[in-house]
Amino acid sequence: MSKYVIIGSGIVGLYTAQNLLDKDVDPLEITVYAEYLPGDQSINYTSPWAGGNFSCISPDDAQTLQFDKFTYTNLARLRSVLGGDGCGLDNRPTTEFWDFAPDETKISSLSSYLKDYQVLDKSELPDGAVFGIKYTTWNFNCPEFLANFKTHLETKGVRFVRKKLSHVKEAFVDPTTTTVFNCTGIGAKFLKGVEDDKIYPARGQVVVIKAPHINENRLRWGTKDVTYIIPRPDSKNQVILGGYLQAGNWCADTWEYETKDILKRTIALYPELAHNLEIIRVACGLRPSRKGGVRVEKEQYSDGKYIVHISGLSGYGYQAGFGASNLGVQLSLRDSKL
Ligand SMILES: Cc1cc2nc3c(=O)[nH]c(=O)nc-3n(C[C@H](O)[C@H](O)[C@H](O)COP(=O)(O)OP(=O)(O)OC[C@H]3O[C@@H](n4cnc5c(N)ncnc54)[C@H](O)[C@@H]3O)c2cc1C
Repeated sequence: MSKYVIIGSGIVGLYTAQNLLDKDVDPLEITVYAEYLPGDQSINYTSPWAGGNFSCISPDDAQTLQFDKFTYTNLARLRSVLGGDGCGLDNRPTTEFWDFAPDETKISSLSSYLKDYQVLDKSELPDGAVFGIKYTTWNFNCPEFLANFKTHLETKGVRFVRKKLSHVKEAFVDPTTTTVFNCTGIGAKFLKGVEDDKIYPARGQVVVIKAPHINENRLRWGTKDVTYIIPRPDSKNQVILGGYLQAGNWCADTWEYETKDILKRTIALYPELAHNLEIIRVACGLRPSRKGGVRVEKEQYSDGKYIVHISGLSGYGYQAGFGASNLGVQLSLRDSKL
């Protein structure tokens, strides 16, 4: 008996389950169906490959900025629900530089809630940069966080079922199901009955190194590429170096020339990285991007039954996904009372 079915066990599906619990939905009424679950690795499962931190990566539209704000300001509560220290989510300092003027509305929104927010003096900017900020951000140990999040939800009573759906109708096999959340990431392009041809991949290769002396984030938004250094909490000193954002590229392979380019750019941005540099692995993932931006939308499936799409979180699923799924859950609860 599952009134609520969530398709997808990436960060967006897990945030959706938590938002349902936060609205006092009975956990026993929630089932998650997913081809891949926390602990698995696949090019078709993006969440384990993320950097992952909160940064200025999101687009400048008011809705996504609101999703960022909700997520940033609710992560402390989620961290505590997941047990605090060791859960794979923690705060670290961050510095971001731009080689172009960032959008003013976005900076104004971020400055209203980011902890320890500070605009850098021109003398603190690297050559070529025109703007920079410092603040306290959130850092995720993505694989660890996903695993702990799933365990927490299971402990509450949420059911996880490994299952690949070929058609959305398979999510409605239980006659008591009224709402299906479509949190299928890049899979939203292919799920029959609700195929979304606006979804496309944005590939990113990363280099994971061991660097106990690096405990802060540093990012540079260039005109051609983005360079980032992201420490991974609760990971025995791992740091993620990137990156690339290659729209339309489905390639699951990794390339040595990209690794060399990432190392060159990140060491230029943070020269201390070169000290005892130890590469642990090289990986890549496909950000589930969407023409027109994030989709949070309710669609009627049949009489009294609805699908809520929460997709297209691209390179900001961790930092905006809690907010996006909060809106999706609000829509679903409003609908179910109609
Ligand atoms: C290199 C890289 C760095 C990144 N860094 C950051 C960062 O620093 N901060 C940040 O916020 N974000 C970052 N991201 C983006 C983030 O990883 C994504 O936005 C997020 O993981 C998307 O989550 P999702 O749940 O939508 O998709 P996924 O994690 O792909 O999950 C999709 C789920 O749906 C399931 N599914 C799909 N189709 C079906 C089907 N037909 N039947 C059953 N199950 C199905 C899958 O099995 C899976 O469980 C990064 C991404 C990459 C690649």
